Amino acid sequence: MHATIQEAPLSRKTREFLEGDLGHVIDARTLAASDGGTTPLIDPSNGQEFGEVAAGTTDDVDMAVGSARQAFEDGRWRKLPGQDKERILRRYAQLVEENTDLFSELNTIDGGVIHSYSKFLVPFAIDGINYYAGWPTKLHGLVPPVSEDFITTQMREPVGVTGIIVPWNGPSAVAASFAAALACGNSVVLKPSEQAPLSAIAAARLAIEAGVPAGVVNVVQGLGSIVGQALVEHRGVDAIAFTGSSETGRRIQAAAAVRAKKVGMELGGKSPNIVFADARLDEAAERCAGSVWGHAGQVCTAGTRVLVQRSIHDEFVEKMIALSTGIRIGGGFDPKTQLGPVISGQHLDRICHFVDLGRAEGAELVLGGSRHGERGYYHQPTIFTGVRNDMTIAREEIFGPVMSVIPFDDEDEAVAIANDTDYGLAAGVWTTNLDRAHRMSQRLEAGTVWINCYQVVNPAVSYGGMKLSGFGRKLGQQSLDLMTTTKSVWIKLA
Ligand code: NAD
Repeated sequence: MHATIQEAPLSRKTREFLEGDLGHVIDARTLAASDGGTTPLIDPSNGQEFGEVAAGTTDDVDMAVGSARQAFEDGRWRKLPGQDKERILRRYAQLVEENTDLFSELNTIDGGVIHSYSKFLVPFAIDGINYYAGWPTKLHGLVPPVSEDFITTQMREPVGVTGIIVPWNGPSAVAASFAAALACGNSVVLKPSEQAPLSAIAAARLAIEAGVPAGVVNVVQGLGSIVGQALVEHRGVDAIAFTGSSETGRRIQAAAAVRAKKVGMELGGKSPNIVFADARLDEAAERCAGSVWGHAGQVCTAGTRVLVQRSIHDEFVEKMIALSTGIRIGGGFDPKTQLGPVISGQHLDRICHFVDLGRAEGAELVLGGSRHGERGYYHQPTIFTGVRNDMTIAREEIFGPVMSVIPFDDEDEAVAIANDTDYGLAAGVWTTNLDRAHRMSQRLEAGTVWINCYQVVNPAVSYGGMKLSGFGRKLGQQSLDLMTTTKSVWIKLA
């Protein structure tokens, strides 16, 4: 593992990027914070500070929103023909692809993402941009049949200036996070997480290089409580697409309500992965474990509640322990690493606190249970059995490599436990019984149900939650609803 940024195996392009200005991107210029404030950049794999980035102010938000507003009003992007928008977005996707190494390396140094996960994350962002690139030519309105006296058109228009607020857990995903907004003709002010702010700078610069006009994509760095909040409250922002924790989501909804602003909420989860006795157990065990150890459990859809039918419980738990024992923990640059660091020391302490609560509330720790190593922020893969669904570890989103195994007897009980949660992001079902698969997918309260698979995604398929996991959809055709508004025009015929 690299002890300092100098020892990290970074490409020349990434080193040059890090040596350049790391700040806001407003009106196609990279700017420092107006008061000169900065936030340290910390590498989660070793806990070392390796640089700093601008820490924005409300004045900076004003400037970015002003730039986005001006661009929207004069139509430099909005009025471009759909074909031109498509060409530019495809060029942007191409540039992101040409910079795959840069995004992968940035993922690792500020987000702690291991290389094998970046191999999914970066191509998925490219696929997402290409998916949205196809939309500008297809955003039709409607002509509802009313009466012979009228022609009534229902036009689909861009919503305006969109504020896009994203978390730290998949930094390069930021490259695709504003593609839907652009496809619909909007201007964007993007606020990345202060804990993984670098990919947003690279993404905005590449969008501009691809031909997105200055002012259409802006990035403001800084704290959620200052920059994020100012963006949500700003009267020049028409809609907020938020991805992050349910707690922050609630706060944002309340603030956005003051101006009746449109919001989309992609929030947290506590997803059940339900294994029936008739499942292909080896495959199920591998994916159940993989979904919690992947990115050290810091994925919104992590299947952290593993519900196992009692008749196969012990056999199944043994399989998961065998699969998870001795997995290689380390920094993201080592291609053999299977479990990387969590984002920060504070987050590691929070995970340890939940593990202590699991023990104290009577769950049985059968694997892991402690932090790993002295340097950096690592936690062992941790499995609790004998978990009751009312225990804290089964209710709270831990966002770390901690799995709770909960036994059940039959389908009704599995559904009752699975749905007994404040969240509703995703669920997995492992069974070879086709009828049961259909019944379960109808009964589970989740935005996505995976049958005999888990965490499969495609930009064409909508993604989002129910209950505390949010509303509105990211990806797929439905994601365009937040980014557009409709206008009905009635023409009376003489
Ligand atoms: P977070 O809620 O702490 O922060 C998310 C973003 O919101 C950050 O950019 C932060 O600076 C900003 N923010 C914080 N307070 C704000 C405020 N008052 N006003 C405006 N913005 C504010 O979440 P996190 O810790 O960065 O990310 C982890 C969470 O994200 C988990 O709960 C995870 O499940 C969720 N997540 C959900 C999805 C999804 O698609 N449903 C995807 C990824 C992550």
